[in-house]
Amino acid sequence: MNYKDKIREIENFPEEGISFKDITTVLKDPKYLKETIDELTDYFSDVDVDIVVGPESRGFIFATPVAYNLGAGFVPVRKPGKLPAEVEKFEYDLEYGKDALEIHVDAIMDGMKVLIIDDLLATGGTISATAKLVEKLGGEVVGLGFFIELVDLNGRDKLDKYNVKSIVKY
Ligand code: AMP
Repeated sequence: MNYKDKIREIENFPEEGISFKDITTVLKDPKYLKETIDELTDYFSDVDVDIVVGPESRGFIFATPVAYNLGAGFVPVRKPGKLPAEVEKFEYDLEYGKDALEIHVDAIMDGMKVLIIDDLLATGGTISATAKLVEKLGGEVVGLGFFIELVDLNGRDKLDKYNVKSIVKY
């Protein structure tokens, strides 16, 4: 599969200097959609997984079918104010300002084995915050999987204690 020919790169979106990796061109092709989900599933097929967590919103697209394939459940991590029941919140620093993510407190039980799947690894801020939420609830992070990894941003440096896999590297 030639993923790089399929991923649409939009320069200077959503702001100057960012080369946006548009995955909608991959998702709409049935062969590519299947291959992407199968590859992500295969990376973790030997790992014991109870729950797959996906951060809003493109993480949902990849995490849910991987959970289905692995026979695991799916749990969403969302921006503040979106989840209706009691939440655990984690705030993290951005280049300018702060951001936060939330998870339902009853979504993960002590000792559960949790795989986290997202569309893209850039600085690693989103995924580190997601892993912190899982660990606050007593979950064990057994892997991190991405469709795309922007290697130059060194996201992996923040994640060196985890089993990190990605399909396409830029
Ligand atoms: P980060 O927290 O820096 O690792 O950023 C991760 C999230 O930001 C990913 O889940 C992507 O959805 C989004 N993102 C960051 N950079 C890009 C990019 N160049 N193209 C598309 N999405 C991006």
